[in-house]
Amino acid sequence: MTKLFGGIEAGGTKFVCGVGNLDGEILAKTRIPTTTPADTLSRCVDFFEEQRAILSNFSALGIASFGPLDPRLDSVKYGHILRTPKKGWSDADLVSPFRDAFNVPIGFDTDVNGAALGEWHWGAAKGLSNFIYLTIGTGIGGGVMVNGELVHGLLHPEMGHIPLPKDDSAVSVCPFHDDCFEGLASGPAIEKRWGEKAEDIPVGHPAWEVEASYIARALRSFICTLSPERIILGGGVMQQAHLFPLIRQKILEELNGYMKLPKMDEYIVPVALEGKAGILGAFLLAERAL
Ligand code: ADP
Ligand code: ZN
Repeated sequence: MTKLFGGIEAGGTKFVCGVGNLDGEILAKTRIPTTTPADTLSRCVDFFEEQRAILSNFSALGIASFGPLDPRLDSVKYGHILRTPKKGWSDADLVSPFRDAFNVPIGFDTDVNGAALGEWHWGAAKGLSNFIYLTIGTGIGGGVMVNGELVHGLLHPEMGHIPLPKDDSAVSVCPFHDDCFEGLASGPAIEKRWGEKAEDIPVGHPAWEVEASYIARALRSFICTLSPERIILGGGVMQQAHLFPLIRQKILEELNGYMKLPKMDEYIVPVALEGKAGILGAFLLAERAL
């Protein structure tokens, strides 16, 4: 019988919970607003209790969460969110409530690692062993697969906080850095610089040239460091499809012929799973915990 998995995509505004399988079917799904950890997590537990009664027990549960978080199994802080500006969530334990309620293995990783796994299994990174998944939205985060494994290490990569050269009119929205990728190029950074929500800025506006330059500069660093076979770009800002050709062109200019890249429209690509990558990725995190 096809194994059933529980998955949670834990975000700053909502927790999406689902039950499904590795055929990519989502049999039940709900959206729970992110309030306090106690309230939010107990509502998630209730959802899985109900679904367990309706569907049947799931084999494992996967949690793909906003970070920073501790994914190291041998750490006392395993399963916790670390210090976060999200009020009330610093040090929140995301795993224990589910471990207490359901006697199943639990996988826990970043939302971007979850989404990267989803894209790898079903989407834009199928068949690859080395790729990067980058989301450019409220924040900028990246998941990296190297030789078939997601990169962890000290904790997990923080690709949004690499430094970028900034020009005089740039103002960073990152509380930690005045020159990082997320501070200069996330959705809120675009809004702060140009005085308009990113989704309201028209195609052809100078904001997009600037944005594409930041992204291309960051991708050049990632390409030179990690040698990805493909880079998948997602998140709200990348819904501006016209950014893709701009970014591809600027990467070629940045690298200046130094290395041979694949065909650019197969190298720098949009997500294939859209909003589903998070929850499907959580199922894969669950399966990996078995
Ligand atoms: P989150 O990062 O919170 O999960 P999103 O990936 O949707 O959610 O990112 C939200 C950010 O992306 C906001 O700053 C918003 O202004 C920006 N954004 C959302 N949709 C678009 C769009 N169509 N074009 C440009 N920017 C967008
Ligand atoms: Zn930063």
